[in-house]
Amino acid sequence: MDVLVLGGGVIGCAVAYYLAQAGATVTLLERDTCARHASGAAAGILDPFHIERPVRNWAEASLNLFGPVCAQIKEVTGIDPLYDPNIRKISVSYESSPKLSHELLEEGLEKLSLQEALALVPQLNPDIDHAVLYPPVPCLDAKRYTQGLAKLITSLGVQVLENTQVDQLLIQQERVVGVQAGDQTFYADQVVDCTGSWAGTLTPLATSIRPARGQIIVIQTPPSWLSQVVYAPGDTYLGPKLDGRILLGSTVEDAGYDESVTVEGALGILARATKAVPAISQFPLLAYWGGLRPRSRDDFPVIGPHPTLKNLWIATGHFRNGVILSLITGQELAPWILQNIPSSLLLKDTVRSVP
Ligand SMILES: Cc1cc2nc3c(=O)[nH]c(=O)nc-3n(C[C@H](O)[C@H](O)[C@H](O)COP(=O)(O)OP(=O)(O)OC[C@H]3O[C@@H](n4cnc5c(N)ncnc54)[C@H](O)[C@@H]3O)c2cc1C
Repeated sequence: MDVLVLGGGVIGCAVAYYLAQAGATVTLLERDTCARHASGAAAGILDPFHIERPVRNWAEASLNLFGPVCAQIKEVTGIDPLYDPNIRKISVSYESSPKLSHELLEEGLEKLSLQEALALVPQLNPDIDHAVLYPPVPCLDAKRYTQGLAKLITSLGVQVLENTQVDQLLIQQERVVGVQAGDQTFYADQVVDCTGSWAGTLTPLATSIRPARGQIIVIQTPPSWLSQVVYAPGDTYLGPKLDGRILLGSTVEDAGYDESVTVEGALGILARATKAVPAISQFPLLAYWGGLRPRSRDDFPVIGPHPTLKNLWIATGHFRNGVILSLITGQELAPWILQNIPSSLLLKDTVRSVP
């Protein structure tokens, strides 16, 4: 079966990966370069704990897939996604909250006193009241992971065409038969729209997808300087990578299609991150960037067959969780597209018809 995948972000690459493994003939069309947008901007924290159910169930199922796929990426492509399965998440609070213990027990998490928190992460601000310790939240370098997936799929026979902007879907009698990209026409049995924040511009009825900008500041520390992912109030996180970089994030903004980092955004991130871990102020700033998270009306992903156009599939709206949900999205969608086997995981939890 011939399948066209539109978009070379982490979702398009993961969908193409599972389609190719199942024997489909896949062409992926990317307007810029793979990993150029949200997927290359992500913090790469695979954290199911901040996700609401039922999507959290998908995230938990997805987590099991990362070890083998990251190993395959490294072995086949030479690109190391810096996958770190053992790192934990510690969430700090400056205020006491007496009710927390009961909630934590139900979740199976651990409340740490200031002393216990400092014993685990000595660089924490001693003015914190307490912290919460989570089980491991694996981390990786999202850009390398996406670029690695893009290279891995070419080795599986996927034709990856970058600098190829799809201008419109070709529709005959309510059936999508291909796409037009400049002066090139591509025909296929099935088309999957994985264009992230731009899904609404190509596919009718997916217009509720809108971009939610997130900004990131990167600092360089010695490797292993920070041993855990630190979350702090104000939607703030410090995500260490195996090479010593720490990604500081983030913001959630309605800024249209503007991927800039703003002075206000950067100042806010740096102030909140430095408050949580004051010693980061000594390290060099390495980079900064912004990315556009594809956000649906209810913040849940939009995955499945288009309700009116035959042979068209949608996989977008992953919002803050596209990296962690990438593999489960591809694994569940591929048999649905190729053999008409609807995903029991996605459907069992919530029927997400395209809005
Ligand atoms: C700052 C930030 C931090 C984040 N941190 C995390 C995290 O820690 N963990 C996590 O799980 N998620 C995280 N996310 C969310 C995650 O990055 C996104 O959910 C995910 O990358 C979305 O992937 P995508 O492939 O749908 O979109 P994108 O990566 O945006 O890919 C869509 C692609 O489609 C292409 N395209 C668009 N229109 C066309 C067209 N007409 N023709 C051809 N190609 C087209 C674009 O060029 C783009 O490359 C973060 C996001 C941001 C911005």
